[in-house]
Amino acid sequence: MTRTAPEDRTTPQRRPHLPLRPLWLCRVCAGPWPCPVARLNLRQEYADDQIALSIYLCTVLHDAAADLYRLNPHDGPDPAALFIRFLGWAAPVRGGSSGAGQASRRAGSR
Ligand SMILES: [Zn+2]
Repeated sequence: MTRTAPEDRTTPQRRPHLPLRPLWLCRVCAGPWPCPVARLNLRQEYADDQIALSIYLCTVLHDAAADLYRLNPHDGPDPAALFIRFLGWAAPVRGGSSGAGQASRRAGSR
C-alpha cells in the first residue's frame, strides 16, 4: 500500500461525505445530508441493488427524523421534505418502466 502524499491533503473530495449527527449535515460540504456527492457515492455503492439502497435510506430517514425532531420539537422539518431529501431522489425513474413493461409483455406472449 502507498502512503498518502502530503499534496493529497489539498484534495477535499477524498474525504467521505458522511452525515454529522444529530444535525444531519455533510461533514465535508456542510450541506443537508445526503449532499449531491453523497448521493452519487450511494448510487455507485448500491448500483446492483436498488432495494438495498431504499431499505438503507428508510433506516437513515427514521434516524434523521428522530434526531431532527428531538432538536426542534416545536419547529421540526416537514415530513414530506424529509422524505424527498432522504428517499425521493433514489426512487426509480417512472419513464423507464414503460420499456420494461413492453419487454415483459412481449416475452409473455410467446
Ligand atoms: Zn457533502
